[in-house]
Amino acid sequence: MTNTILGTFQDLIANFAIVTAYLFLTSQIIFKNRNLDASASWSTKVLLGLVAGLLGSILMVFTVEFDGTILDFRQLAVVFSALFGGIYASLITGLIISLMRLLYFGVISHSAIVAASTTIVIAAVLGVICMMKLTFWRKWIYALIVCNVLTAIAFYINMGMKGTLPVVIYMIMMTIGGLISGHLTAFLIKAKSHFQRMERAATFDFLTELNNHRTFDEVFNASMEKAMEKNETLSLLMIDIDHFKKINDTYGHSNGDIVLKQFGKLLKETSRSFDIVSRNGGEEFSVLLYDLPHKHALVVGNRIRSAISKHEFVLHDGHGIQITVSIGAATYPDTKEELIEQADKALYKAKMDGRNRVCSNQEV
Ligand code: GH3
Ligand code: MG
Ligand code: MG
Repeated sequence: MTNTILGTFQDLIANFAIVTAYLFLTSQIIFKNRNLDASASWSTKVLLGLVAGLLGSILMVFTVEFDGTILDFRQLAVVFSALFGGIYASLITGLIISLMRLLYFGVISHSAIVAASTTIVIAAVLGVICMMKLTFWRKWIYALIVCNVLTAIAFYINMGMKGTLPVVIYMIMMTIGGLISGHLTAFLIKAKSHFQRMERAATFDFLTELNNHRTFDEVFNASMEKAMEKNETLSLLMIDIDHFKKINDTYGHSNGDIVLKQFGKLLKETSRSFDIVSRNGGEEFSVLLYDLPHKHALVVGNRIRSAISKHEFVLHDGHGIQITVSIGAATYPDTKEELIEQADKALYKAKMDGRNRVCSNQEV
């Protein structure tokens, strides 16, 4: 008996290793660009149902025979499916596992039918539980209770009192394995959400949600390469708010921030959807206009300048203020120097010439 229990234990560890490998693979591959939750799209839900069904089937191929019955973590596949894909995903998984249970182990016996039906019932109950507004851990605990209770009933139907030992072992393994995989899943969800947050923070400016300087650089270099390759024009508007320091000094830094926030929104609205709008730093912004000749870039620049000068920026106390911007414009391939330097020089000229204007160093 000791040997059997030790052997069973070793086999169950191997069975559980398949569960953990599955969790890592699905979180890396299937959900690469999506959230690991039930808000997934239909196609993801079906895919999840199928893949979890495959997991359940693999777990059964590596099942552990013990005291006249078989023990494995196949019900955990249904738990994952229900948790991340809801009831339809869990039913797909349940169906695949049930078919596998009926067909894989030879004759379709009475006990196979009981086991297969139990999985379908578990899939339906878990699907309903996971659609309820419960916390992650509540769903997980209820799911484990449902798996334990319904599987125990199935064991007793199939084996009578002889099923007691397998039931005890099943309950211990499902509780321990279930809690460990619950922790692992919670960790994966958290790690994924942290990663997305960091990725967002590295790409966008937190105040205006425009591209940050790093993203501007990347897009600028790629656009420049494309323009050179295809012999197309690329215009750049460098935009700097006039006397912004005065706004901070007069109304406070926090009001300066909300002006910058509204400014970013307005800049995005006045640009075309495919223009690249960035906050290059402080109160300096840029708009990258692909395939737009210099003459037209100046028109766009003036449209932006005029929209900003007419806009009322609302401060925390509801008080409205107006601001102006100076804009430097430059266009490749007309530029004699680097595009950014040329636009910067044009911006400096706009400041020197009295602000609230669009300037260029190029011949139009
Ligand atoms: P100019 O017309 O010559 O551009 O004058 P300016 O006052 O706009 O230019 P200056 O470079 O002297 O000052 C820029 C100010 O922008 C100073 C800085 O405190 C403010 N600023 C930069 N980043 C932020 C920010 O994130 N929030 C706030 N509130 N202010 C910022
Ligand atoms: Mg300024
Ligand atoms: Mg500045």
